[in-house]
Amino acid sequence: MRTIGLVFAVLAPAQIGAQGITDRDLTNASSRTDWITTGRDYSETHYSPLREINASNVNRLGLAWTFDMETKRGLEATPIVVDGTMYVTGSWSIVYAVDAVTGKRLWRYDPEVSRAWGQRACCDVVNRGVAVYGDLVYVATIDGRLIALKNGIPQWSVQTTDKNQSYTITGAPRIVKGKVIIGNGGAEFGVRGYVSAYDAKTGKLVWRFYTVPGDPSKPFESPAMEKAAKTWTGEWWKYGGGGTVWDSLAYDPELDLLYAGTGNGSPWNWKVRSPGGGDNLYLSSIVALKPDTGELVWHYQTTPGDSWDYTAVQQMILTTLSIEGKARKVIMQAPKNGFFYVLDRATGELLSAKPYVTINWAKEVDMKTGRPVENPEARELDPKKMFIQQPGPLGGHNWQPMSYHPGTRLVYIPAQETGYPYLGNENFKYLTGGAWNLGMLPLPATEPAELTPGMLLAWDPVKQAAKWKVSYPTYWNGGVLSTAGNLVFQGTAAGSFAAYNAETGEKVWSMPVNTGIMAAPATYMANGKQYISVLAGWGGAFGLIFGNPSGHNGTPGRLLTFALDGKEKLPPAPGAPALPKPITQTADQKTIEAGSVLYATWCVYCHGFAAASGGSIADLRFSSESTFASYPKIVLDGSYVSVGMPSFKQWLSNDDVAAIRAFVISQRNKIH
Ligand code: CA
Repeated sequence: MRTIGLVFAVLAPAQIGAQGITDRDLTNASSRTDWITTGRDYSETHYSPLREINASNVNRLGLAWTFDMETKRGLEATPIVVDGTMYVTGSWSIVYAVDAVTGKRLWRYDPEVSRAWGQRACCDVVNRGVAVYGDLVYVATIDGRLIALKNGIPQWSVQTTDKNQSYTITGAPRIVKGKVIIGNGGAEFGVRGYVSAYDAKTGKLVWRFYTVPGDPSKPFESPAMEKAAKTWTGEWWKYGGGGTVWDSLAYDPELDLLYAGTGNGSPWNWKVRSPGGGDNLYLSSIVALKPDTGELVWHYQTTPGDSWDYTAVQQMILTTLSIEGKARKVIMQAPKNGFFYVLDRATGELLSAKPYVTINWAKEVDMKTGRPVENPEARELDPKKMFIQQPGPLGGHNWQPMSYHPGTRLVYIPAQETGYPYLGNENFKYLTGGAWNLGMLPLPATEPAELTPGMLLAWDPVKQAAKWKVSYPTYWNGGVLSTAGNLVFQGTAAGSFAAYNAETGEKVWSMPVNTGIMAAPATYMANGKQYISVLAGWGGAFGLIFGNPSGHNGTPGRLLTFALDGKEKLPPAPGAPALPKPITQTADQKTIEAGSVLYATWCVYCHGFAAASGGSIADLRFSSESTFASYPKIVLDGSYVSVGMPSFKQWLSNDDVAAIRAFVISQRNKIH
């Protein structure tokens, strides 16, 4: 009998129940004890009604199991749990199915993304999770494919993007009425944004909604594009335009409206993108679409004529709020631009907007026009004048999920104080093939990374004011989970996982995890027990550029699962690397300075300010002398392409590479 049992276990790994996840399940997701869609429900609340783990016993929380994610790069997915099986994604869009009780691997699917594609990923080769529908698991890959898996085996796969352009997908698909909804990213490289719906059974494209107009000499795809084209000037379509839908989607089954958040302009600089001015619809907007056709119903633009990477792709939460005595069906968002917005989600009417972090680019949002009252200095984009604008391109809040607790009626925002001098590049030239196209001057590469504070903000969306906040020394802390156990869970950039009292913000539990956490936790019941799971792994847009505030460079990424009285031990963090020996500098100062500018233009996005990376990608300053000698092979001939370092031959010469090497050597020789 024992043998038969084992055979059965091998033959039937992680089957989703015969019927699998249905539309009805998705509509009722908020009342379930598992976690069947990335935001937990169509309203994207990241809130669970579970209360076995609560404010009075959370001190007993411990590790139940850990799972090796086989990567040192960023982890951003929220785990999904269906029928005792967890589905989670890691770097390079790899999918894992794991037993939710034991942490045992059931299957693994690697879409085998070409490692050269990593260069097109603005913000690390991350993935924010899967969707489950029927008995299929859907993943979208960093190179733009959408794949349906059954027990880890592809059933269909479609290329959702043009691979001649620098599209990437990092967001989790969502399921609405038998369709898989998916967007994409790439607005730093020069692409045109859109969101698509594919038939969940067959993978056939059902509709596509472009967020910005294409070449107006060609027919418009929709009336929405014809209207939008009137708000653009110049020859924007040659630069893509941007507006990519790279993260959040939400759905209201009653109103039958699908909400998509759109991204920044491409290039960032409005003066080169749309030189005669204009709002540039539908950049930095919330758009409400009919999910059957993709037809636009309403839009609200948070940042007209965006010039600062102020995406409005940040998570949107649906709920009902009592506003001036009336129950209003609202959609709430804390986009990068620093204002917290509450809109009527049936009509798009602006109900309120207030700053949730320090803002100096605009004074307020005018409630009559719904538009920000801008600070003229922010628009100048003077290449010579530093105006430290707040927030910066990483935003007052980024993709890290916030959470809405229906009991406390607070939104818990992983917020941050950021700033950046946007210096317009008057000599902008558009580059194809995977180069960054911002229309801005690079910042000096030699300046140390400036870390500014982050916080967990408990925000009252009716009063538009903070109820409490927990301050962190740095920004880029993890996504948030709130529960009926009166708890809020969040991982930190500094390398811990913590629980707070949802009403007061008092810290009630925390544990060091040996690396920074960016991802949001999920919670579920399995075998009658409540678990909390979170991906711990550092990287992403911030980690690559600014380094690793936890001080644990190169800790392997792990899926951590906690339960009451959990006794599992966390593997130790790797020790600090030995200090590198100085290398004799043979280049002159002028070459080093030229190398610094080239580095800031081409290398900084992955290898970090001052060549100090966060350990997700090798810290260049610690390279061996033979690696330094091999720079032309690595940078021009692509000898490290298998680990994600492509060739830059298209843009850089031998002299350029020698100058970059001289700059990196100068940075290495400073470490003593
Ligand atoms: Ca962007």
